[in-house]
Amino acid sequence: MTLTEVYEKVGEGIQLSFGYFMDPNKRIFFAFLITSFLLSYYVFRSTRVQGTFLKYVFNAKVWMGTSPSIDYCFLVFNGVFKVFAIAPLLVVGLYVSFYTKEFLLDHLGYLEFEISEFWIVTLYTVTLFVVKDFSSYWVHWLFHKVPFLWRFHKVHHSARVLNPITQYRIHPIELVANNLKGLVVFGVVTGIFDFLSNGKFSIYTIFGVNVLGFLFLTLGANLRHSHVKLKYPSWLENYLISPVQHQIHHSDDPQHFDRNFGSVLAIWDRLFGSLIKSKGIQRIRFGLGKEENLRFSSFWRNLFP
Ligand SMILES: [Zn+2]
Ligand SMILES: [Zn+2]
Repeated sequence: MTLTEVYEKVGEGIQLSFGYFMDPNKRIFFAFLITSFLLSYYVFRSTRVQGTFLKYVFNAKVWMGTSPSIDYCFLVFNGVFKVFAIAPLLVVGLYVSFYTKEFLLDHLGYLEFEISEFWIVTLYTVTLFVVKDFSSYWVHWLFHKVPFLWRFHKVHHSARVLNPITQYRIHPIELVANNLKGLVVFGVVTGIFDFLSNGKFSIYTIFGVNVLGFLFLTLGANLRHSHVKLKYPSWLENYLISPVQHQIHHSDDPQHFDRNFGSVLAIWDRLFGSLIKSKGIQRIRFGLGKEENLRFSSFWRNLFP
């Protein structure tokens, strides 16, 4: 690779990161930031926070300073890393899907019945969403429980304040693992549905995004990484992870360690005993605790944990 090519790819990566604001597949798509802003107003009014609403949302502590700067560095760094290291992996999804279908055809042959288009599309949309969420739970669990992996996941937990960009404060090693997991899940589920429908399947989307994922992103997914305490009714927190439940996941209180691994659905945490609800929890301090926070106090220290 020539120096000019490297230079071009770096530019591509930086553009990719900033393009997230215009991409409905990304959590920080501007429309999702607007819906999160509106939900923040609801929280502001209902919790009677002191001061003005704009000061509450655009609090300097949340958006400026060491911890948010590290988040911004990771957003850009990981965009460049994606162009160099993740893009070549994308083909894995196609391979897995092709070989999954081939495997099923070899062992089961062509199906003698036909499933209606409505059911195929509905089942594919739901299965892809649920299996993705289930696998995210376990990958997240592994990144907490295996010491070698926790070392890299600490980067996400070393954030002292949370804002929507903290979502991208992820060590490149974890980024590779998450992407590979996503590609394998996509490949296996797609291969199965390709087999079931003989290639006649699609997905219910809004702006090209899985309709279920779109709902999650619209309904304040960005507030998970924020200081806005949006709770769900207690019964609903058994099924869906509320923003405050993810904030508890970032708490430096040992009582909250290894809880709420879920992304969207809370059912996995409930099933495997790691669920904690927001009821009764008042103050949450984010980070890894005094000593560790000091160790992760710069971008480079997070990149080489
Ligand atoms: Zn975690
Ligand atoms: Zn988080």
